[in-house]
Amino acid sequence: MKKRILTGDRPTGPLHLGHLVGSLQNRVTLQNEGNDVFVIISDFQVLTDRLDTKEVERNTFELLLDYLACGINPDKSTIFVQSRVPALAELFVYLSMLVSVSRAQTNPTVKEETKATAKGKMSLGMLGFPVSQAADILAFDTDVVPVGEDQLPHVEQARDAARTFNHVFGPTFKEPKALLSKMPRLMGLDAKQKMSKSRGNAIFLSDTKEEVLKKVKSATTDSGKDIVFDPEKKPAVSNLLQMYHLFSGKEIKAIEKMYEGKGYAPFKLDLAEVINAFLDPIRQTRAELAKDKTYLSLVLREGTVRAQEASETVMQKVRKHMHYDYPSIFHHGG
Ligand code: ATP
Ligand code: MG
Repeated sequence: MKKRILTGDRPTGPLHLGHLVGSLQNRVTLQNEGNDVFVIISDFQVLTDRLDTKEVERNTFELLLDYLACGINPDKSTIFVQSRVPALAELFVYLSMLVSVSRAQTNPTVKEETKATAKGKMSLGMLGFPVSQAADILAFDTDVVPVGEDQLPHVEQARDAARTFNHVFGPTFKEPKALLSKMPRLMGLDAKQKMSKSRGNAIFLSDTKEEVLKKVKSATTDSGKDIVFDPEKKPAVSNLLQMYHLFSGKEIKAIEKMYEGKGYAPFKLDLAEVINAFLDPIRQTRAELAKDKTYLSLVLREGTVRAQEASETVMQKVRKHMHYDYPSIFHHGG
């Protein structure tokens, strides 16, 4: 049966390898299996940890290019901009009344994000953004949310919000399920934290060959020079081996064998080549698509209208169940 899928990204920069293996590949598969995929460009969420908004529009187009170049087909899937769908803000207001501050404060990802990118200063918007995300998910009657591991606490909060709403106002929402990929948390090139757009540790899908080579060459390694997979003792090299495996399709054991006694330098050169070979077709499609700004704008406009319609259908049910479909002056003939 056709499922409703919702997932997305913040327009804080272009997408990286972590997005690709953590969520994007799953989105494309779900789309090609005939599901109804909605991809949200979460521009409200940009504001959780920064107030410099000059790059948001440019980053929105960067995300769109990444989606299209990786196989999201706008004839099958809906790509839209969060702030242009007013129902999401409305539902956020309703849901935020159902969540206690102490419940919001238990979300570990909010704490991690605050530490990593907001210099430890937590805004009310940062504390509440999982509830805003719950509104995004529930407003589309979502069944499945393909996400990276850092998002699991947020999907849990969306399930909580659905349950509480259903309890208070009667059965309205489904409880959405998170879908993790085989690689739900790709570590960054610093090997210390997850690969992230905003933490200077990412290989972007749009990086040039030279940038990829430079980044891989300067990636953190562990002491000793053996290329062996041991996430406990050699987290950095293990992470690079994972990447080699993911983007070449070779088994980790086979890769270890190839570099026995060879040291980091040739391994890193080859890894850069493996990543570049994988990214080449994506880069080419991306460059072609980038020439047609009119088409890109049309994709976003049409997607956003579809998202407005789909969320409005759910919101009519929400307002009715809350007795907020009043006053009667808004009804035909009322
Ligand atoms: P930022 O640093 O600006 O928060 P980000 O790299 O964390 O950017 P998001 O837009 O916050 O990217 O996340 C979008 C989606 O990609 C989420 O589902 C998230 O779980 C997933 N994701 C992000 N980074 C990784 C990663 N390193 N490994 C796997 N999945 C990831
Ligand atoms: Mg993030």
